[in-house]
Amino acid sequence: MPGLDLPLVFDAPKRGRPPTHLADLDRAQRTEAVTKLGLPGFRADQLARQYYGRLEADPEAMTDLPAAVRTAVGAALFPTLMTPVRHISCDDGTTRKTLWRLHDGTMLESVLMGYSDRTTVCVSSQAGCGMACPFCATGQGGLDRNLSTAEIVDQVRAAARAVAEGELSGGAPNTRRLSNVVFMGMGEPLANYNRVRDAVSRIISPAPEGLGISQRSVTVSTVGLAPAIRRLADEGWQVRLAVSLHTPDDELRDTLVPVNNRWSVDEVLSAARYYADTSGRRVSIEYALIKDVNDQPWRADLLAKRLRKHLGQLVHVNVIPLNPTPGSAWDAAPKSVEREFVRRVVAGGVACTVRDTRGQEIAAACGQLAAEG
Ligand code: SAH
Repeated sequence: MPGLDLPLVFDAPKRGRPPTHLADLDRAQRTEAVTKLGLPGFRADQLARQYYGRLEADPEAMTDLPAAVRTAVGAALFPTLMTPVRHISCDDGTTRKTLWRLHDGTMLESVLMGYSDRTTVCVSSQAGCGMACPFCATGQGGLDRNLSTAEIVDQVRAAARAVAEGELSGGAPNTRRLSNVVFMGMGEPLANYNRVRDAVSRIISPAPEGLGISQRSVTVSTVGLAPAIRRLADEGWQVRLAVSLHTPDDELRDTLVPVNNRWSVDEVLSAARYYADTSGRRVSIEYALIKDVNDQPWRADLLAKRLRKHLGQLVHVNVIPLNPTPGSAWDAAPKSVEREFVRRVVAGGVACTVRDTRGQEIAAACGQLAAEG
């Protein structure tokens, strides 16, 4: 938006610059920030335990903090990063989508999903997205801005708290604890690398450094920025990688996932292989099945062949029925075509299942709620 990046004379919020929050800071920076406020260093860990351990983001509710310093601590370390605009539930209350407004008016969404064996939050890594995939609602609007580390972490904290407070129905005992995080909301996580890396670090570190969610229960999903996949592998984590392939051939992928013009299917899959070898984890391949676009039997065969060649057994394909975006001519493949597609991939020696499609009636596919405003 032209004009918004000009220096502002008045003390208005600056688009693109969210206020610094505790969750942006590592341990040393936290201690420094607390010392600057004239507080003893031990307060740094105490605040982090409140935030990551007790999921408390409001200093007024931190009873172990002297009342006299709560306001100053709040202003310096706990600015309001995001305000819920609305919650929408579906699937008998086991799926809940939240639309958030950020400090500068930017819109963001995250989705909570309760299952019998896990509770997952789907978070956004950017407001909007610059990858321009034509079937994706977020891709149509372009990139608004990168989210800060704290804006990403706080989506997870808010979700963990909502789950702990029983806001997600479903009844399974485990719905009282958030167990999984997937970076499959708005944005391309690896295009916001440093902030996403720091956010993952806070999500997987035990309190007081982070939220203590198991590495194996965190999934980073990417369009396939090959060098960034290798960089993520070199972090040495066991986080799951999902690659949005959507077709095995460069010709179609150049249009479905335009960044393919920069990093081809071969380059993406060899980076994925490096990730699998380094992390010891199978890579997930995402495949949104689109009627008459990428659902042909020969593409299923080619997909299996190319995945076998690059990844051997270190791969699993998730077929996602396309969730049509408003105004798009594309539709999901018919169930019979979908079954045949999966059958052929499996016959080609590659594990393949159809992804459960939660939240369709609340437009929880990537970016749809924020797009509706
Ligand atoms: N940018 C990242 C993460 C966000 S999208 C990525 O592309 O992987 C998360 C997943 O939802 C991706 O696999 C994406 O291709 C898929 N997706 C986007 N729009 C969709 C739609 N309309 N129907 C089905 N899947 C969609």
